[in-house]
Amino acid sequence: LVVVENVQKHYGEFQALTDINLTIAKGEAVVIIGPSGSGKSTLCRSINRLETITSGSIRVDGRELPAEGKALANLRAEVGMVFQSFNLFAHLTILENVTLGPIKVRGLSKAEADREAMALLTRVGVEKQASKLPAQLSGGQQQRVAIARSLAMHPKVMLFDEPTSALDPEMINEVLDVMIGLAKEGMTMIVVTHEMGFARKAADRVVFMADGQIVEQNTPEEFFTNPQSTRAKDFLSKLI
Ligand code: ATP
Ligand code: MG
Repeated sequence: LVVVENVQKHYGEFQALTDINLTIAKGEAVVIIGPSGSGKSTLCRSINRLETITSGSIRVDGRELPAEGKALANLRAEVGMVFQSFNLFAHLTILENVTLGPIKVRGLSKAEADREAMALLTRVGVEKQASKLPAQLSGGQQQRVAIARSLAMHPKVMLFDEPTSALDPEMINEVLDVMIGLAKEGMTMIVVTHEMGFARKAADRVVFMADGQIVEQNTPEEFFTNPQSTRAKDFLSKLI
């Protein structure tokens, strides 16, 4: 579903991604881990075309990423992204945050969009907050709304870039549980996270990056019990 081929990304002289090759099948949940600065966010942002790659190719569902216009808006709907910061629209209610995209991009009526949004808010467990503003919700609740907002666009793949790293510890699990549910239901997912418990429970594959490259990839069991590279061994030994 997502094919990344020979991708390089330079920021001026600096090479953030060096020849990345990665194929993600429909229904697969892939966790990307690696040290700070290894290019994990750059890769995610490139797949959503928040960054323009320097060379190589990225295809989603067989199509090369569009550069602009309506095609780009459609891509952003197909490739949902959830960030560390929740990025909800502060002046809109929770319900309006979720219905905005479906009404504008998918052309749903307000009634249809409301109905779908309430179902999604129920699924992530924040339906009681629908008429509140984002600032009135906890971080964990806001992040679950951000997930519902992405799902409302009916994405083919979901990207998560450290979705729980800005949360207080007691809120991390409520967000991870929603993500585990999505993975179990067969959502295609790319997740950058330091939550190794999530990787063990939900990932089909762990991709380890260092210095802008994929150093190794394996099933979670194999990767955590039997890392191959020195970089991965070193990285894992530093985790608590
Ligand atoms: P972290 O775990 O800290 O989030 P990461 O693996 O997500 O790290 P990236 O954010 O992808 O790393 O950054 C990879 C490298 O590219 C870093 O060295 C970073 O300083 C550099 N970089 C990222 N964005 C830019 C930018 N807009 N301009 C210049 N350099 C950048
Ligand atoms: Mg990052």
